[in-house]
Amino acid sequence: MNLFSLAKAFPTEEHALAYWCKVRWPKGVVCVKCSHDKCYLIETRGKTGKPARIFECAACKLHFSATAGTLFHDSHLPLQKWFMAIALMVEAKKGVSAKQVQRHIGCAYKTAWYLCHRIRQAMQEPSDVVLGGPGVVVEMDEMFVGGRVAGSGIFNSQKKKVKVVGIVERGGSVHMQTVKTVRKSSIKPIFYEKVAPDTEKIVTDGAPVYLAVIPAHQHQAGNHKEEKRTRQKLSNQTIEGVFSLFKRGVVGSYHQLGAEHLDRYLGEFCWRYNRRKLQPWMFQMALLSVAENKPMPYKELTKF
Ligand SMILES: [Zn+2]
Repeated sequence: MNLFSLAKAFPTEEHALAYWCKVRWPKGVVCVKCSHDKCYLIETRGKTGKPARIFECAACKLHFSATAGTLFHDSHLPLQKWFMAIALMVEAKKGVSAKQVQRHIGCAYKTAWYLCHRIRQAMQEPSDVVLGGPGVVVEMDEMFVGGRVAGSGIFNSQKKKVKVVGIVERGGSVHMQTVKTVRKSSIKPIFYEKVAPDTEKIVTDGAPVYLAVIPAHQHQAGNHKEEKRTRQKLSNQTIEGVFSLFKRGVVGSYHQLGAEHLDRYLGEFCWRYNRRKLQPWMFQMALLSVAENKPMPYKELTKF
């Protein structure tokens, strides 16, 4: 959903609230404590004195907001602003920075930073997703993320960079995650967890670690020279393309992102990439995920 259709679909906060309730409770509002299905909408004043709409449970008399217990938990931002931030994040192929979101929706930087992380949390694939399968070719590679450290050579900088492993199906989905090392001990468990055993072929670069990890009958070590000569797709260009798109996003949109949050950024990127053919439904998917996710307190994000 682009910003124009968003503004048209939700011209007031009431429209946004009605839509949110429909996404969260398709069969009608349910009490967040006792699951009773009779709840009344009441008008009251929030902590800041502004008028607020909350629900009262007919059974346990609990007062709760429509966002209680979700990723939007305890937020004082209007839903319209949340919706706009989600639309911005799901549309931006290379990602959008908290600074940009702050400018677009008009809020404090800290608020924008926190809301971006919460939406990013909603844009994570389930942990049990597996790539590959019969007739599918996947590519696997690693990259280093992070800038050069002033005053140290390339070798030392490389050591300080964060290592990321990526797996992509040709024409399909991608998975990326940080790893402690690019040795067998780190790569092997990811390979067995994320790549289906009956995958047709796994294409990597010439790094020796893959010889020790991937069964020989499925493995193909890429060869750029041979590829040029035979004009066949022999190397791992797809995953290299994904890495370069992510790096352009990191440099172009986020500038500096905390290494401790990198997995969440990678997850966001994969989520968007994996839904690139479902563009018209991405906003609704993200919103549903926000409703289904548990709250993520600010303290948890800043404990590093
Ligand atoms: Zn109740």
